[in-house]
Amino acid sequence: MSEVFNFCAGPAMLPKPVMTKAQKEFINWNNTGSSVMELSHRSEIYMVMAAEAEADLRDLMAIPDNYKVLFCHGGGRGQFSAVPLNLLPEGKSADYIVNGSWSKAAAAEGKNFGNINVINIREEHSDGEISLTPFEQWPLNSNAAYVHYCPNETVDGIEINDIPDTHGVPLVADMSSTILSHEIDVTKFGVIYAGAQKNIGPSGLTIVIVREDLLGNAQLATPCIMNYQTSANNDSMYNTPSTYAWYLAGLVFKWLKDLGGVKAIAKANQAKAELLYQVIDSSEFYLNNIEKQYRSKMNIPFWLKDESLNEQFLEQAEQQGLMALKGHRIVGGMRASIYNAMPIEGVQALVDFMQKFEKGTR
Ligand SMILES: *Cc1c(COP(=O)(O)O)cnc(C)c1O
Repeated sequence: MSEVFNFCAGPAMLPKPVMTKAQKEFINWNNTGSSVMELSHRSEIYMVMAAEAEADLRDLMAIPDNYKVLFCHGGGRGQFSAVPLNLLPEGKSADYIVNGSWSKAAAAEGKNFGNINVINIREEHSDGEISLTPFEQWPLNSNAAYVHYCPNETVDGIEINDIPDTHGVPLVADMSSTILSHEIDVTKFGVIYAGAQKNIGPSGLTIVIVREDLLGNAQLATPCIMNYQTSANNDSMYNTPSTYAWYLAGLVFKWLKDLGGVKAIAKANQAKAELLYQVIDSSEFYLNNIEKQYRSKMNIPFWLKDESLNEQFLEQAEQQGLMALKGHRIVGGMRASIYNAMPIEGVQALVDFMQKFEKGTR
């Protein structure tokens, strides 16, 4: 079989050098004679590694000292509950911006824990093009406890590039599929969270970056393992963290630093996305209907204009080692997820195949 490129939306591919290193030290980590996953999270050697991973992430994202970085359980969806539990006191409401399926799910879950104001910003033009209401026109509530949004909608392939100005109301972002893909100004956010399995490491780990002044207001019923303050007070080790995922995330952070950090990877991501969109847009055969300024650079959905060819497309793609291109069941078509770990060679192989397939079916 030729080289395999995995376009899965998540769990997604991890960088080869990271996997090779992990394999090499799998049963004997740092001369301990044990796998890292067999060691106590409170052992000196593990804690040093854990702290280093946090320091590297802080470095990569330029996270200021007045933010805590938490290594949590429960994935992105766990945070759909944890955010209102920690930030939404009784008598207050929160604004939820909805531009796709994950932000919609976050709002639906939030309703279980308080008063949620849903703001739909998705617009469909008469020609079928999908666009968004610019943030200057969002009807935000100045008394809201926070504004929640999803800057990159993984399923829909919609990205909001500019950070919304919420006029002092804490901004909470679900960055599960965009964290570390390009530089952001962390100081513009109250909370950033991300499930690890797209751009950080394996599943089972969730990163939460929270501004310190937002700690300590959790609802009484908040489970202790979801309480940001409890996690912060215990360096994310109130209960046993996902130790192996934390270690692998640490390797990914080092890999990214060696590459030149977020700035360097952002340039590569831009080039990858441009290559794919250019082939889609220049063809009569493929289609992406998201308005250009809102197109995702991480998750690129596209449709064959003749949908009866879908099965054939996927089958032949797999024969070429181009895996997991089937679109999410709710939007159909195809989706190429091209996170940080996807090399440009993978996108090149995909567009080469797409052009060959188009010619072959004419
Ligand atoms: C994948 C994803 C989630 C869900 O993550 P889980 O870890 O499966 O709970 C939430 N939000 C976004 C934007 C995602 O891409």
